[in-house]
Amino acid sequence: MNYFTLDGLEVPFEEGDTLMSAARREGHYVPHLCWHPRLGQSGACRVCTVKVNGRLAAACTTRASADQMVENRTTELDAKRRLLLQMLFVEGNHFCPGCEKSGDCLLQATAYEMGMTGPRFEEFYPDRPLDASHPDTWIDFDRCILCKLCVRASTEIDHKNVFAIGGHGIDTHLVVDSPSGKLVDSRFSADDFAAGVCPVGAILPKRRGFVIPIHERRFDRAPVAEESWLENDASTRESTDDTGGHDEGA
Ligand code: SF4
Repeated sequence: MNYFTLDGLEVPFEEGDTLMSAARREGHYVPHLCWHPRLGQSGACRVCTVKVNGRLAAACTTRASADQMVENRTTELDAKRRLLLQMLFVEGNHFCPGCEKSGDCLLQATAYEMGMTGPRFEEFYPDRPLDASHPDTWIDFDRCILCKLCVRASTEIDHKNVFAIGGHGIDTHLVVDSPSGKLVDSRFSADDFAAGVCPVGAILPKRRGFVIPIHERRFDRAPVAEESWLENDASTRESTDDTGGHDEGA
């Protein structure tokens, strides 16, 4: 068995593992937003940035090898992650107290874990009309963090290619592939894997608002770095998660 070190601890890995997949299997928390155990690598959010032998690298796309000394939860790296999160929060409209996903939101939970206590930059307050056209699911683009999880889920698991990312720079946005651009005219179904994979409150089922009360939600019960979440792989959570989601936990 080969090993790399993660914050001084030996982590075994198998051929083809990334730093993230190996660390996760051993119950180590590496902060992330766009990684999912059932989906291909993306490297979109960079929140999983670690130091590998002194150089910055995304844990979700870096192959594990035996000579690696990996720094993860250091003050310096968590500060960089906090900066990324603070940018994400002002780039969209994230009003946590009024969001159905509050307490079950990976962005919110990761911000807490990284010690984010407030905004650092001026809010953009972008104007992003929501799409409530579909009978079972609605999209609030205000909360989209462009993690591409729904894009990859729709392509890799649902084989429908309902979602894509369009535009450039500050105009980058989620696109629905349909003649009208509306979800109702796409091949999307509420049973799709993509319907439950959103880590924030951008893609949500209708008629389920606040079914689970605030303070009883997954990150209300335990912080995102808690090992109990790490032990739950995607298949376990699919069968036990009563939020209607396919979240991978942490
Ligand atoms: S809608 Fe959700 S899953 Fe899709 S890119 Fe935006 S944040 Fe990610």
